[in-house]
Amino acid sequence: MTHHVILGAGPAGVIAAETIRQHAPSDRITLVGNEAEPPYSRMAIPYLLMGNIDERGTYLRKGATHFADLRINQLQAQAERVDTATKTIAFNNGEALAYDRLLIATGSHPASPPIPGLDSAGVHPCWTLADARNIMALAQPGARVLQMGAGFIGCIIMEALTQRGVRLTVVEMGDRMVPRMMGPVAGGMIKDWCQAQGVQVFTGTRVEAIVPGTPPHTPLQVRLSNGQTLEAELVISATGVKPNIGFLEHSGITCLQGVLTDEHLQTNVAGVYAAGDCAEAFDKVSGTTMVSAIQPNAAEQARVAALNMVGQRTALRGVTQINVLDTLGLISTSFGNWQGVAGSGPADRVELTEHQANGGKGRHLSLQFKDDVMVGCNSVGWTEHVGVMRGLVEGAIHLGPWKERLKQDPTQLMQAYLASAQGQGAWNGASDERRR
Ligand SMILES: Cc1cc2nc3c(=O)[nH]c(=O)nc-3n(C[C@H](O)[C@H](O)[C@H](O)COP(=O)(O)OP(=O)(O)OC[C@H]3O[C@@H](n4cnc5c(N)ncnc54)[C@H](O)[C@@H]3O)c2cc1C
Repeated sequence: MTHHVILGAGPAGVIAAETIRQHAPSDRITLVGNEAEPPYSRMAIPYLLMGNIDERGTYLRKGATHFADLRINQLQAQAERVDTATKTIAFNNGEALAYDRLLIATGSHPASPPIPGLDSAGVHPCWTLADARNIMALAQPGARVLQMGAGFIGCIIMEALTQRGVRLTVVEMGDRMVPRMMGPVAGGMIKDWCQAQGVQVFTGTRVEAIVPGTPPHTPLQVRLSNGQTLEAELVISATGVKPNIGFLEHSGITCLQGVLTDEHLQTNVAGVYAAGDCAEAFDKVSGTTMVSAIQPNAAEQARVAALNMVGQRTALRGVTQINVLDTLGLISTSFGNWQGVAGSGPADRVELTEHQANGGKGRHLSLQFKDDVMVGCNSVGWTEHVGVMRGLVEGAIHLGPWKERLKQDPTQLMQAYLASAQGQGAWNGASDERRR
């Protein structure tokens, strides 16, 4: 009986385990997680912070016997070493487990910049349920909260923090908000919007040191590179994430930024696969490998990896690079090569910006082309065309004459999609090779 071991019990691990069970009713499945709680969704943490759900509401599967019913064995342990020659995993509790097929779905962890005082009481990332509990204890109405980082996760949690009634300051070392996803105009509009909502935002500014206090009684002192020192009862560190791949050192499994996989999510070692935030997956659309740490990728990669693990040869077509952000009610998007591709010139891009007076939302569209294909875009304040933007970028739709029309009027996205996409096939994530 084939034994599938899955390291990591987040969305990727859970979806892989369920997919394997669906297609291999008698195989043995072990799902290993190192957190104390049942498998949960980090995406739900903002709703927990807002009080919209309780901890149970974050659980990926609600039934108490869900995994037992599917004969998925759960193990709480931390994988410390993988020996691909003997096909065994060593855990921190001294135990070892043999596998026939292995899926690495260990996700990522918050980066910790080398800032003196980062380990002080009252400084927390916002990544796990344990972090959420710590944040909720300190983020009380009127508390001063300083958030380091205005990237994807930073922007997502701002809404929850402001709804808790805290006084929020955001410090971002990049020259704009969401600098790795948004261009200068979009990032600037998001900053203006946040400030209009009462959030103090410093861009181009670093946190240089944190002097411990005894929160909530004596505040932390946060020294900034602009010379200011701010007091805070809570500092949230949201400065990016890194794949959990350290335990694979010396395993012979190739890792670059993440665990390197081919289009079948298999690593360089036969029988060993990776999926989710820890994986550097092969993107057939662009012909390169990339880590794209968002949940839709975790889910799709897990499904494709699991099918391959049970012998159904399936290829991942694309690594989705979509980010739809809701920053205090302002919707922005970033798709694909939003900065444009190397060698592109002014003829390959178009921008439209409508600023609003008095702290209004404003709107912005920035489209990037390669030949007659829209390869990426940024938008702020547009909700109606999100699906179309995704369809055009991920489908690599040839626009023909519509490229020039979009350059005249970028708001014609829907018309361009309807006129061009027909017959070129919609992007559907993965393709089943047996059907070809
Ligand atoms: C606050 C917040 C909001 C987010 N919002 C969004 C959003 O709106 N949209 C979106 O697409 N994404 C969002 N994300 C990101 C999303 O949660 C991740 O992309 C997703 O969780 C990835 O799933 P995963 O299974 O690959 O990794 P994870 O969910 O991180 O699961 C991996 C699991 O493996 C465990 N593990 C790690 N190392 C080991 C080991 N050595 N042994 C055993 N177990 C191990 C980890 O502790 C963890 O439990 C958000 C994240 C956060 C923190």
